[in-house]
Amino acid sequence: MSNSRRVSYFYDAEIGNYHYGQGHPMKPHRVRMTHNLVVNYGLYRKMEVFRPRLCSPTAMTRFHSDDYINFLRVITPDNMQEYIRQLQRFNVGEDCPVFDGLFEFCQLYTSGSIGGAARLNENRADIVINWAGGLHHAKKAEASGFCYVNDCVLAILELLKRHERVLYIDIDIHHGDGVEEAFYATNRVMTVSFHKFGEYFPGTGDVLDIGYADGKNYAINFPLNDGMDDAAYQSIFRPVIGKVMELFAPGAVVLQCGADSLSGDRLGCFNLSIKGHADCVEFVRTFNIPMLVLGGGGYTLRNVPRCWTYETSVLTGEDVKDELPFNDYFEYFGPDYRLHLPVSNLENLNSSEYLERTKLQLLNILKEVEPVPGTQIQTGQVESQLHPQIGMPVLGDHNNDNSHMEEDDPDKRAPAPAAMV
Ligand SMILES: [Zn+2]
Repeated sequence: MSNSRRVSYFYDAEIGNYHYGQGHPMKPHRVRMTHNLVVNYGLYRKMEVFRPRLCSPTAMTRFHSDDYINFLRVITPDNMQEYIRQLQRFNVGEDCPVFDGLFEFCQLYTSGSIGGAARLNENRADIVINWAGGLHHAKKAEASGFCYVNDCVLAILELLKRHERVLYIDIDIHHGDGVEEAFYATNRVMTVSFHKFGEYFPGTGDVLDIGYADGKNYAINFPLNDGMDDAAYQSIFRPVIGKVMELFAPGAVVLQCGADSLSGDRLGCFNLSIKGHADCVEFVRTFNIPMLVLGGGGYTLRNVPRCWTYETSVLTGEDVKDELPFNDYFEYFGPDYRLHLPVSNLENLNSSEYLERTKLQLLNILKEVEPVPGTQIQTGQVESQLHPQIGMPVLGDHNNDNSHMEEDDPDKRAPAPAAMV
């Protein structure tokens, strides 16, 4: 298998200037720290750096409601008092605070994801990385879990212009609820989330939540207990994703790489090493499918840049030394100044029996998935044959934009990708 993929990488230094507020666990400058490590390891030279035009508010309303996006545009710390009712209605103010530049922040990370998806659609890259993205909790008209605009959903909508089926995989410790909800009733997007479940935010993601109507069996949830370690995670991730790839045969994949599933995370309770986390990235990469890789959660500041830098090296196929290069944030990485982290002695509360049973339960749900739905699309006339998105104008508002609507390459519809492992 070829080792070299065309990797594009979104970075905008502005992203690190935003602050959710004093003491808030979300720190946008973890992306700047990641970038600094990426540069100092020389990985930057292995990728094409891109900065798309800022996405318009209208582009955000492909998923979000107009009134919610208008609210995000106007709200500031200074005028909050005039918007008490809307703050409540849109769940902004507490977990999701108002801060200076909130809307520009949303525009920046969302541009990376939509622009990245467009880049994949245009075949200008095989893999696109946006560590500032992955804000998977945001809903159509509601902020949630530090997320305001759901760039994952918007990127998937962009990919659906070009691809019949898109796969979303979420390895953040929290359930990818916003993305699941957006595509719960369609079989064109399969969402697969591995997450801590039970008295834990956001509370959704039961194994029995499998999708609705046309989307039935196209939402896959693996609920987990505290202490997931590398071996346990690999024992479920690889077989489930392997089966999904075989049956669903996506044209593109979006991988949300929330780093709060790492050992020692401030809000998380898993025990993954960076290598264990990155094994998921590595595995998905082997399928040779256009891939959009996003960030997400991650609240122990010194660990997130390590994880995403290592995953950048995995995606570019470049080895990196464990010894950290000197960088602008060197003091954060003491006392050992190494890339990889030891895991803790946290007990894994997921028994092998539980993992095996749940894995089989999910494989049984996947058996109901008709292998490669929609192959009739090969005759052309893409638009008329696509299954309509329930309640979502996926294609309708972009009829003037022919560039993504051309007849797809029939090779892309092959029942199984050539590189299937
Ligand atoms: Zn999370």
